Amino acid sequence: MKKIPVGILGATGVVGQRFAQLLDNHPWFEVTVLTGSERNAGKPYGETCNWRIPGDPPAAMSSLPVLPTTADLPVKLVFSALPSPIAREWEPRLAQAGLAVCSNAAAFRNEPDVPLIIPEVNAEHIDLIPQQQERLGWKGFIVTSPNCTTTTAVMPLKPLHDAYHIEQVFITSLQAFSGAGYPGLSALDIQDNVIPYIAGEEEKMELETRILLSKYDPMRQLPDETIQVSAQANRVPVIDGHTVCLSVKFREKPDIAAISGLLTGYRGAEIVRQLPSAPVHPIIVRDEIDRPQPRRDRDTDHGMAATVGRIRPCPILDLRFVSVIHNAIRGAAGGAILNAELLAARGYLE
Ligand code: NAP
Repeated sequence: MKKIPVGILGATGVVGQRFAQLLDNHPWFEVTVLTGSERNAGKPYGETCNWRIPGDPPAAMSSLPVLPTTADLPVKLVFSALPSPIAREWEPRLAQAGLAVCSNAAAFRNEPDVPLIIPEVNAEHIDLIPQQQERLGWKGFIVTSPNCTTTTAVMPLKPLHDAYHIEQVFITSLQAFSGAGYPGLSALDIQDNVIPYIAGEEEKMELETRILLSKYDPMRQLPDETIQVSAQANRVPVIDGHTVCLSVKFREKPDIAAISGLLTGYRGAEIVRQLPSAPVHPIIVRDEIDRPQPRRDRDTDHGMAATVGRIRPCPILDLRFVSVIHNAIRGAAGGAILNAELLAARGYLE
């Protein structure tokens, strides 16, 4: 199979570097374009990129020049790791020019015909693309990935919702500081500390959870009105790996003893299981009393699985548990790459 040429927008940032790392030697995609802000334009990626993650910049990309973001990039697909205001400006221009845009930014996540996707959760929502193209007259399209903390909660919530129908969820997050991008927070702020506020994060978790768990409607993607979500977001001194503590109330009484098997056995749609970046088990359950932990569990299945533990009854609602994912892999670059693989498998990149 001839590889599809792709670009990374915002390739020098925390998520952009993860894209570069995960797309190196990808079986379907080949990175031929990298973009950065004007101040880095023209310089070789390997020299200008302040590499902040383990390993080195991929050799195949090191000599590629960092380009400014323009609408005429010579690729079929771009992965966007742009800051949201920049994404709002450029992603529509690229989609209008005929490119497929797989975005990590929040800019278009809540548009009713821009699919917000976690492939194991709502792969069928991808079929809103023709609706989006018709409304906007675009040859290309935008598909978005959720906020990284929403992904941490929704991966295990999905099989529970399918089995018992979720009515209420309380989510308390303990979020890694790589989630704030580079350079992010000052060490004087985050070391030895917990910051109980992250701008916009609670609203994103509350809305996106309800969108992702909504039933597929071919005309629009709207939040499920039967689910209530209350979220509290905290930034903690962890480099990578978001943790969420959840309490959930269901319409039907859950069988608590069956929850672990329900989560472990969850696979998502058949087409998703065949994708190259799909984890074998999207949800891993740990039985140890003190797991999951971000440092020990974030890299499970190449950083693509959610690790769940502390499954137990809730004395006020029905069920409590804890979930951990790698925010920059499953919650960002890896999630968007899985979305793109789904697009390719479904024929949207032809
Ligand atoms: P970041 O580290 O601040 O990186 C942003 C990058 O965008 C920088 O490298 C910057 O380049 C580049 N940029 C700015 N203007 C540009 C332009 N006009 N064209 C091309 N590149 C441009 O932020 P991040 O954490 O990687 O986040 C990127 C996006 O992903 C954000 O929308 C964020 O909300 C979302 N996201 C992040 C995470 C996470 O865990 N970090 C998770 C999910 C979603 P310079 O280096 O030249 O300034």
